Amino acid sequence: MTLHQNLIAGEWVGTDGVANVNPSNTNDVIGDYARASADDALAAIAAAKAAFPAWSRSGLLERHAILKKTADEILARKDELGRLLSREEGKTLAEGIGETVRAGQIFDFFAGEALRLAGEVIPSVRPNIGVEITREPVGVVGIITPWNFPIAIPAWKIAPALCYGNTVVFKPAELVPGCSWAIVDILHRAGLPKGVLNLVMGKGSVVGQAMLDSPDIQAITFTGSVGTGKRVAAASVEHNRKFQLEMGGKNPFVVLDDAELAVAVEAAVNSAFFSTGQRCTASSRLIVTEGIHDRFVAAMAERMNGLVVDDALKAGTHIGPVVDQGQLNQDTDYIAIGQQEGAKLAFGGELIARDTPGFYLQPALFTEATNQMRIAREEIFGPVAAVIRVKDYDEALAVANDTPFGLSSGIATTSLKHATHFKRNAEAGMVMVNLPTAGVDFHVPFGGRKGSSYGSREQGKYAAEFYTTVKTAYTLA
Ligand code: ADP
Repeated sequence: MTLHQNLIAGEWVGTDGVANVNPSNTNDVIGDYARASADDALAAIAAAKAAFPAWSRSGLLERHAILKKTADEILARKDELGRLLSREEGKTLAEGIGETVRAGQIFDFFAGEALRLAGEVIPSVRPNIGVEITREPVGVVGIITPWNFPIAIPAWKIAPALCYGNTVVFKPAELVPGCSWAIVDILHRAGLPKGVLNLVMGKGSVVGQAMLDSPDIQAITFTGSVGTGKRVAAASVEHNRKFQLEMGGKNPFVVLDDAELAVAVEAAVNSAFFSTGQRCTASSRLIVTEGIHDRFVAAMAERMNGLVVDDALKAGTHIGPVVDQGQLNQDTDYIAIGQQEGAKLAFGGELIARDTPGFYLQPALFTEATNQMRIAREEIFGPVAAVIRVKDYDEALAVANDTPFGLSSGIATTSLKHATHFKRNAEAGMVMVNLPTAGVDFHVPFGGRKGSSYGSREQGKYAAEFYTTVKTAYTLA
């Protein structure tokens, strides 16, 4: 089987490969992917450091052309790359192709941003002095990504890093190296000078840790678990480097008595179960007022009954498998915990067999849950949601905000008053009205508050805040 190697200083290197396995069918090996060592990570960091002076001064048209070419190739190959994504991560083919298109659009957006770099000229408070405020690249950026968005998250970190003139050391998640390898290959062939983008596939505890410990990385952008995020933060403070964290969520979706039932159910099912519930913006807390509660639960069960859980690549599948055995164990452990805590398992939660060996779980819905239960406080990261019954809007808002996290927050209502109040008072970085908590645009800020995120926002023009550093220059006229 072909070995997909790491890219260090413009060379494909590495001999040992690890199999990339399809969670819909564990007999299906997608390919072998090289595993980098700590020394490989150090070589990649050295290469990025050496490449920085030239790339930071590179012409804007060169950056634009490389990012545009990459966007065009990703979009032209969306079916093939989307299939690779679904095959290695387990989200459905439609979701895989949709995410691939989004990655292409992100590269296209930052190709444009390269031509829109701007600063400010401001008069000094002192006479005859001019002040210029400009943005400069930060240096070597370390990019560490999780498995749940194998192409979109690498895209939304790599594209702005390169656009603003930084060089990159990129470590994708162990479980999904395929899409990462593919976009690095595309960028490399699109003409990036050697060392500007380095790929080091491998273990977090080895490759990731070597990145955290390096004094030669000036900024680290991380998406993953709270535990690892805390390590990134501590190591980054130690090295006085910039860092940006996107971690967990325990996103609430409120359903009020005045909601349109069909709209509420559609948004709740999407929020809780699409992409197998493996989105940091997924909702696992459905907070429902008492007047609509029973109708909502009945309609949810009916809708869930119609969901097809099967091989991600099969036509007609709505929900693919869980990503691996470890995550499946976590999901089933939480389903047992919810029952022990006294919540009622109203639908699903069983392991299911399909034609091929894979990690199939029937989406689970709890009712009679309280916001104090572990299933309502801890991120499960699977197709498991709990309905929490509340009296009215005020209680719904209080319960929605009673969480250590603050990424996304949703509400289903036809009341302008409640929608407006919720948008202003939800303690989250993103708020959705009559829409799922997940599913965001690529050109506007993404991120949260409280325990979900740290640092400036990702995506859109707000990404410049992280990937550049501001300089203020004074000139005597
Ligand atoms: P998840 O539960 O999504 O796998 P992790 O935080 O374990 O969350 O993984 C997110 C990314 O962080 C992965 O690329 C992983 O390899 C990396 N990672 C894990 N441990 C470390 C570490 N000690 N230092 C740096 N990166 C790490």
